[in-house]
Amino acid sequence: MDFYVMTLFPDMVMNGLNESITGRAIKKGVINVKAVNIRDYTTEKHGKTDDYPFGGGAGMVMQVQPIHDCYKAVCGMIEEGHDGVLSETYKPRVLYMSPQGRRFDQSFAEELAKERELVFLCGHYEGVDERALELLGAEEVSLGDFVLTGGEYPAMVMIDCISRLIPGVLGKDASAEIESFHDNLLEYPQYSRPEVYEGLKVPEILLSGHHANVEKWRREQSIIRTLEKRPDLIKDAVLTKKEKQFLDKLISERSGHE
Ligand code: SAM
Repeated sequence: MDFYVMTLFPDMVMNGLNESITGRAIKKGVINVKAVNIRDYTTEKHGKTDDYPFGGGAGMVMQVQPIHDCYKAVCGMIEEGHDGVLSETYKPRVLYMSPQGRRFDQSFAEELAKERELVFLCGHYEGVDERALELLGAEEVSLGDFVLTGGEYPAMVMIDCISRLIPGVLGKDASAEIESFHDNLLEYPQYSRPEVYEGLKVPEILLSGHHANVEKWRREQSIIRTLEKRPDLIKDAVLTKKEKQFLDKLISERSGHE
């Protein structure tokens, strides 16, 4: 998967993503990340990329021209990656990091992981000239109901999350499949050595070596945790008939205690 990040702070993006698991995936060539500096595309002689908002008001707005020209350059890079053969109607999926956008979550990440490439546009200051979004056909994506100084962290968070779903990025391909939010369940509790620490013991079942019982226990723990911590998720959890019965029993026990 190829990620293109249009930003005024390319080092911020690359310094973060070149570390740890994403860094190794970049080195192996399983993912490619290219942070493209919007400033390189301004036609303003002093390298300016922002200006005052029309109509007045606080702050500065990122101007349309450098963003549009940067986008055209990114499209050229994508075309090169497709060996120069792209249909005239082909448009890469462009995501504008914005507190006003669709909320990013695991199922959105799964949807985006199917793309061949993604283009991120990071705003700064008061955001970007609205016409840039129109010209790029950008979808607005939010990390949550809070306001950050720029779109670089949201883009990095999204790239990290999407990358984990790409085969070859994690050590074991299966491990992304049994984590929180898959099947709308939170992950079961995890333990490692030692077996006893300050009197606290690892649950006996995990030491039993009985694979099927461990799996059953983990699924049940996932159901218990989701019900306790994120009851909003449980109604859409993907459960077997037996697990559904387990959940119903839990709910009725709990309502009995209230
Ligand atoms: N004036 C904008 C508004 O009120 O909607 C906020 C601009 S914010 C200070 C600067 C940039 O940070 C935005 O253009 C966007 O790229 C990014 N940003 C801020 N909060 C974000 C969030 N919750 N999710 C995604 N991007 C965000």
